Amino acid sequence: MSHQPVFEARDLHVIRGGSLILKIPSLVVSEGEILVLIGPNGAGKSTLLQTLSALLKPTRGYISFRGRRIGSDIPLLAYRRRLAMVLQEPLLFDTTVYNNVASGLKIRGVKKDEIEPVVAKTLARFGISHLRDRSARTLSGGEARRTSIARAFATNPEVLLLDEPFSALDPVMRETLLEDLERVLKETRITTIFVTHDRMEALRLASRLGVMNSGEILQTGSPELVMNHPVNEFVASLVGVENILAGKVIRGNKGTSLVSVSGKEIEAPGDLSLEEEVSLCIRPENVLISNMGSGDTSGTANRFSASVERITPMGPYQKVHLNCGFPLATFVTGCSLSALCIAEGSTVLASFDTMAVHVIRKGQPVDAR
Ligand code: ADP
Ligand code: MG
Repeated sequence: MSHQPVFEARDLHVIRGGSLILKIPSLVVSEGEILVLIGPNGAGKSTLLQTLSALLKPTRGYISFRGRRIGSDIPLLAYRRRLAMVLQEPLLFDTTVYNNVASGLKIRGVKKDEIEPVVAKTLARFGISHLRDRSARTLSGGEARRTSIARAFATNPEVLLLDEPFSALDPVMRETLLEDLERVLKETRITTIFVTHDRMEALRLASRLGVMNSGEILQTGSPELVMNHPVNEFVASLVGVENILAGKVIRGNKGTSLVSVSGKEIEAPGDLSLEEEVSLCIRPENVLISNMGSGDTSGTANRFSASVERITPMGPYQKVHLNCGFPLATFVTGCSLSALCIAEGSTVLASFDTMAVHVIRKGQPVDAR
């Protein structure tokens, strides 16, 4: 019983305005999972959430909730009462914070004296007890979002669906809300689907990550898997693989292959076929730079003399664009840059491990799961 998935969607198609905007052959969500769906604007994230919450009827296919088909085995209204949804806009009722947070419980017919302690606890959980009697109209953006999330949690839903709830917030407010949400999700272990276009947000929360584009889920897996083994170039760039290099295999044996990239040779893991066209993915955080002739990188197969073309400040670190004969980007703290005396125009040694290279094979069937 406990192994039964919370959601099981099969062969989902949604057509709107004459175009197919969602096409999902299969999606399974397990108990207690925090599935984060990431994708650019227009990827179909909101459409998928609306379909899962039964606000939108699929043109084809079905969704089961705990083994029962929504809309047939389980009536829509009964189903909707078991979930809570949080949207980008808080959409609060024009009444007090207390009444907003209590609203879901009232709709569900919970007795007044039972509502009070639940609301009090939920307000405290999200640090808004002091706003209890405030009119929702007077709240700041961050307070309104806290209220909207508290309202969702108050009903103790079996599933929580969040559609870019933090995207309009300033970074500091977003960070504190993310921390609170993280903590409450850990405490409650509510099965959650969280939609965002923000990679950092996704990686913070996800127990499983799904990447969407053009109405499809391109890949799902642990954040670690998707980050390090993206199935294609689109997923790679979305999860922050800064270096995607086109190359051709010139030698392959005994678990490693040699790939020619702009006339340079890069060692990659795996037995690849000779002449095969591949894309090599190298995450910037796996590229090391050192001064020529210093440091011991002799054990590393991939070492290249590189010129520093450009240094871009990125807040806590600097993005260093190297030219090794092929372009290569890496992240370095300002502190290390000055310690290494590296500036634009410097010549450095760039190195990365064979195992830090992920190979995307062209023309190979993609197994997104
Ligand atoms: P996301 O939430 O990832 O930004 P959406 O699910 O909102 O994406 O939209 C997915 C695609 O479907 C977009 O290209 C959007 O223009 C299109 N779309 C959404 N609603 C409709 C509609 N009612 N009619 C036609 N196209 C729609
Ligand atoms: Mg959306």
